[in-house]
Amino acid sequence: HADAAMYAAKGNGRNNFQFFTRELNHVATERLHLEAALRHAIDHDGFEVHYQPKTDANRRIIGMEALARWRPPEYGPISPDRFIPIAEDSGLILPLTMTILQRAFVATRRWNEGRDLKRNPLRIAVNLSPRLFLSDDIVSHVHRLLRDADLSPELVELEITETVFMSRSERVLETLIQFKQLGLQLAMDDFGTGYSALSYLRRFPLDIIKIDRSLVTGIEREEEVAMIARAVLSLGQSLHKTVVAEGVENQAQFDFLRSQGCDEFQGYLLSRPLSEAGMSELLQSHGGFIPAPQSVDSTPA
Ligand code: C2E
Ligand code: MG
Ligand code: MG
Ligand code: MG
Repeated sequence: HADAAMYAAKGNGRNNFQFFTRELNHVATERLHLEAALRHAIDHDGFEVHYQPKTDANRRIIGMEALARWRPPEYGPISPDRFIPIAEDSGLILPLTMTILQRAFVATRRWNEGRDLKRNPLRIAVNLSPRLFLSDDIVSHVHRLLRDADLSPELVELEITETVFMSRSERVLETLIQFKQLGLQLAMDDFGTGYSALSYLRRFPLDIIKIDRSLVTGIEREEEVAMIARAVLSLGQSLHKTVVAEGVENQAQFDFLRSQGCDEFQGYLLSRPLSEAGMSELLQSHGGFIPAPQSVDSTPA
C-alpha cells in the first residue's frame, strides 16, 4: 500500500510538472505569436486610434485622449494594457507610438480647422510609455511629427505615468524641460495609484494632474474616497495645476467633482472612446457640447 501511495504521488508530481511546462510553453508561445503579430501590424498600418473626449464643467468638449486599438484578425480585440507591455519589451514601442501620434496629430489639426485657437482650441492628449524616456531622442521624434502634421505644440498634452519620475530622474527632468520648451503640456497620468507622487509635483514641470479612475469610483457613496479626491483637487488648485478626472461614469460623480472645482472630465458618462469618424461626428452634432441625458419625467400620467 505504501508503494502504491508513493507511485501515486510520483505519478501525480510528474503530471503536475508536465502540466506546468505545457502551460508555460503555451504562455510563451502565445506571447511570441503576439509579438510577431504586433510587428506585422506596425509594418502594415494595423492599428487604430480611438479618441475619448474631455469636457469642461459645462460639458463643452475641450479635447480628447488618443487611445491605441488593436484587433488582429486571428485573435480578436486585444487591450492596450496587454499589448503595450509586449511592445515595450520587444523594442516596438517607439514605432508603435510614432504611428499613434502621427495619426492623432493629423486628426487634431483637422478638428481645429476654422476654430478660434485662442478661445476654444481642441487639445490632444497622448500617452507616452516610460520606456521612451530611457532611450532614443523622443523629443526630436515628437517635434518632427508635430511639424509634419503642422500642429501647434500648445495643443498637445503628454500623459506620463509615475514610473517615469521614479527612474533616472536627471535625464527625465531634462527631457521634460525640452518638451516644455517646445510648448507642450505635461500631465501626470493615473495620479493616486502609486507612491510619493507629491514630491514629483514639485520636482517636475507638470501642468496637469489626471486623477485615476480608482479615486473616482465610489466617490459618490464612500466618504473616504470622496475625502481623498477632495484633497487631491485642493492640492492641484493650490499648485495651479489643471485637474482632470478620468473614469467618470455617472452624474453623481460628475456633480461631486464639479462642486470641488475639478477642471476637466473624461469617462463613460460623457462618452466612450470613439473612432476618428465617430469623434468627428460628435464634434459636429451638438455645437461642441455633450448634451446631458434627458431627465426621465417621473410625474405620474
Ligand atoms: P489611461 O491612459 O489611464 O487611459 C484611460 C483608460 O480608461 C482607457 O482604457 C479608457 O478606455 C478607460 N476609460 C475611460 N473612461 C472610462 C470609464 O468611465 N470607465 C472605465 N471603466 N474605463 C474608462 P484603454 O483604452 O483600455 O487603455 C488602457 C491603458 O493603456 C491607458 O490607460 C494607457 O495607459 C494605455 N494606453 C492606451 N493607448 C496607449 C498608447 O498609445 N501608448 C501608451 N504608451 N499607452 C497607451
Ligand atoms: Mg492616459
Ligand atoms: Mg489615465
Ligand atoms: Mg488610468
